[in-house]
Amino acid sequence: MKKIQSALHKWMKDNESFKENYTNMKQNVLNDPEIKQFLDGHPELSDAVIEKNLIKLYEFSTQSKQCDRCSSFGSCINIIKGYSPVLHVDQGDIHLSYEKCHSMLAHERTAKQQQLIQSLYVPKEILSASVDDLDPDATRSEAITAALTFLNKAKTELPSKGIFFSGPFGVGKTYFLGAVANKLKDIGISSMLIYMPEFVREMKTSIKDDSINEKIEHFKKADVLMLDDIGAETQSAWFRDEILGSILQYRMMERLPVFFTSNYTLKQLQEQLAFSNRGGVEEVKAGRVIERIRQVSREVEIYGPNRREE
Ligand code: ADP
Ligand code: MG
Repeated sequence: MKKIQSALHKWMKDNESFKENYTNMKQNVLNDPEIKQFLDGHPELSDAVIEKNLIKLYEFSTQSKQCDRCSSFGSCINIIKGYSPVLHVDQGDIHLSYEKCHSMLAHERTAKQQQLIQSLYVPKEILSASVDDLDPDATRSEAITAALTFLNKAKTELPSKGIFFSGPFGVGKTYFLGAVANKLKDIGISSMLIYMPEFVREMKTSIKDDSINEKIEHFKKADVLMLDDIGAETQSAWFRDEILGSILQYRMMERLPVFFTSNYTLKQLQEQLAFSNRGGVEEVKAGRVIERIRQVSREVEIYGPNRREE
């Protein structure tokens, strides 16, 4: 009997404090300047309706409105991260909904832009390359002019020819690709940047895999395709004719530009692509690939110091 009495006592006490808490909460909610403003704007709402929806008003008052209480997108304090609460009245009742906040919208915009550059096996530093850092000395002026001309034309229409950057190791050829890709991203054009030696290796290992065709389709259709270090890959007649040849053929027909970097000039690359123990036939096939490269790009040589030694 004592037990029941003490339980009852406790319940009554809890109930008291609950009531007190409730009254406090209600007071706080109704004193919230934004809630006040909302209720002032809707004098038709009766006390009963406000009372019934007090929990919604309370939730609204605890949340950050359009990032006013969050220092960054990552530290959003709201129940649904990146969403801001909105109160509205419909058919005499109060409704609480959530809409994307400013930070969420900005975050989505950046993420979408970031997707415009896709890369396979290209170092991260290259992806942050900027055209403003392409030092315009005499050894590179032709390459810079070519890149800027391409970018300028791309603002109105995507040119059908990219650039074939040839030059020694370390002069910044790959950096040029990154810089062009970043500028293209700013004007909403997507690029696909691929490091050739790894690309060939991957294609060879996934030869039995159905995904290979899907990948090839992707490379064929990217707005701008960039093949980094062509000629440095292990030579394979299959890759040259079936993969590279077919991608270039498609892009040539569709007038879609391709960028390349190579330690070889186009003339040297032709010899490299023909290298095989089967002789003459390969030369014809290599010549065909080179011809397609000429259709989708324009050769520009880059010289200068080896930046990797700096
Ligand atoms: P390549 O492809 O010709 O072998 P890279 O583009 O890889 O040369 O450049 C070699 C190094 O120099 C890289 O670390 C790259 O980030 C850096 N680099 C190249 N060009 C620039 C530049 N204009 N500004 C700053 N760093 C650069
Ligand atoms: Mg390179």
